[in-house]
Amino acid sequence: MQTQKIKKVLIANRGEIALRIIRACQELEIKSVCIFSTIDARGVWVRKADECYLIDGDPIQAYLDYERIVALAKEVGADAIHPGYGFLSENPDFAQHCIDNGITFIGPKPEHIALFGDKMASKVAMKAVGVPVVEGTDTPITDIAEATKIAKEIGFPVIIKAAFGGGGRGMRIVKKEEEFASMFEAATQEAKRFFGRGDAFIEKYLSNPRHIEVQIVADKYGNVIHLGERDCSIQRKHQKVVEIAPSPRLNEEIRKELLRTSKKAMIKLGYESVGTIEYLVDEDDNFYFIEMNTRVQVEHTITEQISGVDIIYRMIRIAEGQRLPFMQEDIKFRGYAIEFRINAEDPKVGFIPSSGRITRHLSPGGPGVRMDSIGYKDYIVPSNYDSMIGKLIVTGLDWEGTVRRAKRALNEFIIWGIPTNVPLHRQIVRDEDFKAGIFNTTYLDHKLPTFTLDALHDIEEDESKEEYIAAIVAALKQRGQ
Ligand code: ADP
Ligand code: ADP
Ligand code: MG
Repeated sequence: MQTQKIKKVLIANRGEIALRIIRACQELEIKSVCIFSTIDARGVWVRKADECYLIDGDPIQAYLDYERIVALAKEVGADAIHPGYGFLSENPDFAQHCIDNGITFIGPKPEHIALFGDKMASKVAMKAVGVPVVEGTDTPITDIAEATKIAKEIGFPVIIKAAFGGGGRGMRIVKKEEEFASMFEAATQEAKRFFGRGDAFIEKYLSNPRHIEVQIVADKYGNVIHLGERDCSIQRKHQKVVEIAPSPRLNEEIRKELLRTSKKAMIKLGYESVGTIEYLVDEDDNFYFIEMNTRVQVEHTITEQISGVDIIYRMIRIAEGQRLPFMQEDIKFRGYAIEFRINAEDPKVGFIPSSGRITRHLSPGGPGVRMDSIGYKDYIVPSNYDSMIGKLIVTGLDWEGTVRRAKRALNEFIIWGIPTNVPLHRQIVRDEDFKAGIFNTTYLDHKLPTFTLDALHDIEEDESKEEYIAAIVAALKQRGQ
């Protein structure tokens, strides 16, 4: 195979991941091209790219119309496309369309994207290569009577999942047989609405599991390595909120087994590029595969921090046909990293997405602090897209020190004008269980009712008023507790 140097990358995405890809391109001295919707014209990433092109019309469709995107890539002389996460990143037809048009798709092979896009099919495939999977059905079920019978065999509680689902959507937990039929109906309907396909399957619902995932990096020559695991158990509505690498309380034997099994499976499947294998670990330390994400993940940053590997940079090099310049033994992990997803949402009003102008903005800094964010003063957060506007990543040598550093960084962070989930993060890092590394996927369900989620920006801003200054000082003092 020949190495084909990439000269110009078109980024088929927006927001913080577009910015992240631009940064990798700059370090590789590759030109970057952004596409942007009318609404995203003020996005900071658009300005940082070497070239940018407006895709008019519907602001979401702008990032999904792949024929238009590939045609544009050809027109502007981009020889590769990076899909980021979300949008087209897990669309095998898009990957194939790039290849058919002589554009390098920076990601896995279309066949693997297709396989892992179907959760049910991927469980069958992973089982066949020696990976334990959560007990459940492996063919689509449409008949309610048949489905109920299977659910009873598995034993309640069960979870109904959309085979083509993602982003925490299309899942229903069923505790009792009586609820099953209506929940199954609802899950199928939601799946059809969100993912275009109503295929659903049933799985045993594990109680109090931890979500542990393994980062894989593989070149085109069969060299596969892992970059350790991430603990993504801190979730709300099955969506990750805080991620940690490595998992602070994972049995060393289990960790080794998990990493070894993951790597072996990917070698057997001939996987290439980067990907993440997601598992649930039960209370007895058994691990079970749930799904694989065939793309860069939001939380790839914490793995970069502890392994020293730039995952996006490496993804591009792999797409060029370069061999991995390191082997498993060369990867040395150091310390801990925690990622806090910064979402424009109101923790006081059921976390509904917020939008509007950021009136004050100061990023935290200092040792071990990394901000991957598109936020700045006067940026208007649009309501059209995912509410995540950035990530705060904190790195330290030991777990306790990293949590203290996180607390410090979150205290420094000023983002006013719109509600964000920063007050939630400030509560998490003060929580004794979190500090002790004791948490599973039910953590936030239990903790949320006990958290105080007041935000500094609740104070009416009128700088001429003495009350305003007094309130600010009081709030700042309270924040440091
Ligand atoms: P990660 O494991 O990277 O955190 P997420 O499941 O949170 O993955 O997805 C990352 C992004 O992609 C989020 O913005 C999410 O809303 C979006 N996303 C993931 N899967 C889908 C899907 N099937 N349909 C629509 N959006 C998706
Ligand atoms: P998505 O594609 O939306 O990311 P996943 O299958 O990765 O969906 O599951 C997301 C989260 O839902 C998991 O991290 C876990 O918290 C919960 N979950 C999924 N399957 C199960 C299960 N069988 N038992 C318990 N919790 C589950
Ligand atoms: Mg998942």
